[in-house]
Amino acid sequence: MATIDKLMDKLVSLCKRRGFIFQSSEIYGGLNSCYDYGPLGVELKRNVKEFWWKAMVQSRDDIEGLDASILMHPRVWEASGHVANFTDPMVDCKICKGRFRADELNDKKPGQCPRCGNKDSLTEARQFNLMFKTFMGPVEDAANVVYMRPETAQGIYVNVYNVMQASRQKIPFGIAQIGKAFRNEITPGNFTFRTREFEQMEMQFFVKPGTDMEWFEYWKTQRMAWYDELGIRKSKLRFHQHGPKELAHYAAAAFDIEYEFPFGWKELEGVHNRTDFDLKRHMEYSGKDLNHFDDATREKYIPYIIETSAGCDRTVLTALIDAYDEDVIEGEARTVLRLAPAIAPIKAGVFPLVKKDGMPEVATKIHHELKKHFNVFYDDGGAIGRRYRRMDEAGTPFGITVDGQTLQDQTVTVRERDSLVQTRVAADKVVPFMQEKMAAYRRE
Ligand code: ATP
Repeated sequence: MATIDKLMDKLVSLCKRRGFIFQSSEIYGGLNSCYDYGPLGVELKRNVKEFWWKAMVQSRDDIEGLDASILMHPRVWEASGHVANFTDPMVDCKICKGRFRADELNDKKPGQCPRCGNKDSLTEARQFNLMFKTFMGPVEDAANVVYMRPETAQGIYVNVYNVMQASRQKIPFGIAQIGKAFRNEITPGNFTFRTREFEQMEMQFFVKPGTDMEWFEYWKTQRMAWYDELGIRKSKLRFHQHGPKELAHYAAAAFDIEYEFPFGWKELEGVHNRTDFDLKRHMEYSGKDLNHFDDATREKYIPYIIETSAGCDRTVLTALIDAYDEDVIEGEARTVLRLAPAIAPIKAGVFPLVKKDGMPEVATKIHHELKKHFNVFYDDGGAIGRRYRRMDEAGTPFGITVDGQTLQDQTVTVRERDSLVQTRVAADKVVPFMQEKMAAYRRE
C-alpha cells in the first residue's frame, strides 16, 4: 500500500483528475464540505447503492424498500428527539476564530486551541442543533419551519404499518431506504468522510420484544459480511461496542462497524437495538395507536427495532481508500484501484492494438456487443501500455485487446487488472468469461 500520510492527498487528486469527485461550485472557490460526483464517481456510487439494495432488499423475502420524502411534518423531529437533543457542543477560539466540537478536544490540554495553540482562548461550550431549517410556503415565520431530514430512519418509522399492510409482511420484517440526509456539522472534513449533505443506506427491522438481541446479533454478522463481499479488506474492519457513556438514550445495545482510515479507526456504519423507543414516541406525539396486533398469537405489542445505518458516501470513500494501490510493472510505476468488479465504474476497456488493418472496426463491434451487458469503455488513443494504465487507475478489472491474431481466429486477449494474467478468449465468449471471473472475485 502507498505510504499512509500521502494516501489521502493522492486519492483526492486522483478523484479530481479521473472524474470521481469534484469540489462543489469549484469556480466560485468551492463550498465547504460539499462535493459533486463526476462520471466515474456517479457510476461507483450507483453500484455501491445497487450492491446494498440487492443484499438488503431484492435478495430477501423479509425486507421491503421505501423512498420517503426529505421534508416531513415538523412534529416528527420533536417525537424523534432531534429538536431537543440532536446537538453537538461547540466552542470558538477567541484568538484565531476557529470553531470546534468540544467533545473532540484534547482532554489533556483543557482550554487550549487545537489550531493556534493559545491557552485559555476557548469560549464555554454551547449546544448547537445540527438540523438544517427552512420554511414551507412564502411566509418565513416560526409556524412554517420545516427541517431537512438529518436521517432517513424516521420516514421508515412513520410508514411501518402502511408498508406492512401493502406488502402483507409479518413481524419480523424490515424496511430499507437509501436517501439524502443533512446535518449542519460543526467540523466537517477528511474529504467526503464527514459532509453536511450525504446519503444514508438504512434498514430498520421490526421484531417482537424479547427476540431483539437475537436479531441484533444476526444483523451485526450480516452487515460485517457485506463489507467483505464489497471487497474491503477484513484486516481493516472491526466492531466497536458503545459503552454506557456513548450509548444513545434510545438504544439497548449499539455496535459500530469501523474502518481503519488513514486518519484513524472511524465509524462506517451503526447497528443499533433501538427498542420500542421510536414507535412509542410517535404514538405519543401523533396520538395514533402504533401497537401491533399479532393475529396468530392474539398478542398486542409495540415492535422493537434493530437498525443498520450506513453512510453511502462514506462507503464509497472507504472503497476508494481500500482499493488504492501502487506497484511497479516492468520497471514502470503504476497506480491501480483494486475495486471489486461489482462496483467498478467501468468493467472493461476495449482496445484495438493499432489504429489500422481493420482492428478498430472489430474492436468497435465487440465494444457495442459488451455494452449490452456492462459499462465498457473504448480507447484507441496512445500506446497500449498507457491505455492499460489509464484503466488501472479507474479501477477497471478487464482490458480487452484486438490484435493481429483476432483478425485470423476471432480471439482477443483479456488482461486482468490485479493478476496481469492475459488469456486468449473467443470474442463471442468474452461476456461469459467476464461474468464468471466477476462472480468468483475475492479480494486478496
Ligand atoms: P458521528 O458520531 O460520526 O457524527 P453518528 O454516530 O451520528 O456519526 P449515525 O447517526 O449513526 O452517525 O449515522 C449513520 C451513518 O451515516 C454513519 O455511520 C455514517 O456512515 C453516516 N454519516 C453520518 N454523518 C455523516 C456525515 N456528516 N457525513 C457523511 N456520512 C455521515
